[in-house]
Amino acid sequence: MPKQILHNAHSQHPLLLVDTHSTSFRCNGCGCQGVGFRYRCQTCNFDLHEHCATCPPTASFAFHGQHTLELEPAVFPEDPRSCDLCGTSINGMHYRCRPCGFDVHPVCSQLPVYAVSPLHPAHLVTLTVAAPRKCTHCGANCLWRYRCNPCGINLHPKCLLGRTDDTPLKIPRDN
Ligand SMILES: [Zn+2]
Ligand SMILES: [Zn+2]
Ligand SMILES: [Zn+2]
Ligand SMILES: [Zn+2]
Ligand SMILES: [Zn+2]
Ligand SMILES: [Zn+2]
Repeated sequence: MPKQILHNAHSQHPLLLVDTHSTSFRCNGCGCQGVGFRYRCQTCNFDLHEHCATCPPTASFAFHGQHTLELEPAVFPEDPRSCDLCGTSINGMHYRCRPCGFDVHPVCSQLPVYAVSPLHPAHLVTLTVAAPRKCTHCGANCLWRYRCNPCGINLHPKCLLGRTDDTPLKIPRDN
């Protein structure tokens, strides 16, 4: 990771890499909360997730492999969008498949296919999209979910870690 970058979302000053694991921040790029590494302009109190500062203009996503996703810098009020993966609203930069109207938060585009959930530590859970099922954690239907097939466990990505607020977050990879 470079220690300092220039980013066209904040062209007036360079952004410095900082790591503040103790405090969360709001990313000025995607509008989501974050913790850990970020690129920051101290003068302007401007923050970008490390991923949002460095994510490429196009991306491929394992679950939408038929098309390339394009990075869009903002959402306009007359065209509100929500993330097809975590279901929460998008308030800034995001990846979109224009032909399909498929949108994901940059952070959600990084979701690992396999993960470990503290709610079901016995088995790996697998990111799946299929007919709606009730989430084992919150009880609401989930289309996109982490699933343990043998046990019939279904968890929203946002429920994977057993949290109750709805801010998207980075899920630790199993490695
Ligand atoms: Zn961000
Ligand atoms: Zn600045
Ligand atoms: Zn999302
Ligand atoms: Zn598509
Ligand atoms: Zn849930
Ligand atoms: Zn299981």
